Amino acid sequence: MALSDYFHALLDLFYPRYCLHCNAHLNDSQEIYLCPYCKKTISFIQNNHCVRCGTALGPHITSTTQEGCPACKGKHFYFDTITSITCYDGVTKTLIHKFKYAKQKFVISVLNNIVTRHARFEETLSGVDVIVPVPLFWLKKLHRGFNQSELLSRGIQRHLLKPISRDNLRRIKNTVSQTQLSRAQRQTNVHNAFFVKNPSLFKDKKILLVDDVLTTGVTVSECSKKLKESGAESVHVFVLAKAEYNT
Ligand SMILES: [Zn+2]
Ligand SMILES: [Zn+2]
Repeated sequence: MALSDYFHALLDLFYPRYCLHCNAHLNDSQEIYLCPYCKKTISFIQNNHCVRCGTALGPHITSTTQEGCPACKGKHFYFDTITSITCYDGVTKTLIHKFKYAKQKFVISVLNNIVTRHARFEETLSGVDVIVPVPLFWLKKLHRGFNQSELLSRGIQRHLLKPISRDNLRRIKNTVSQTQLSRAQRQTNVHNAFFVKNPSLFKDKKILLVDDVLTTGVTVSECSKKLKESGAESVHVFVLAKAEYNT
């Protein structure tokens, strides 16, 4: 037994490690947060998703940046493209819940690893000028203690070495949670909820707009509207997980 193995054995005695998703004991593994099985089941989104709205597409359906797919054809979005890294289910859903609602802030490092490990990461991000997290209303941020999109943006920034604009796009309305709302209600809910303090900072910029979970795209579209009104050249939405929206 190598010295490091003794060290790990001793550490495990005091800090037993369990998989964050299935609670399996991790003491025999090199993994710290997820067991190898759960790690393998993370549902990474492949190329069969609409580039415009992020919806999962069947094998013979294609999408274009201009027209979108059958799900978003005719709908107006203010952003140019959407990239989602995973589906909001299984492991990703557990991790996001632990991080966001149970406030286990350390889970962000696992989520950041998921983001930067994926091939679509580099593909989408090269060429952007500035990273903009979807803002929380100040009271909500105060209550939660952090803005999840901001922490994800920091993880992206470490790889991308592009600046983050943290407080130029602001949420000025304390909107209610979108979870139980219809698409139309969501639209009314976020209408004029955002404001750009200094539009010249976004002028002619290619913006990467970062959020944790995407459902209808209404919130990121409203943010994008403000960014475009400020003169942004393009807005590329980047989300950790795409949730299915069925109503
Ligand atoms: Zn597991
Ligand atoms: Zn689409």
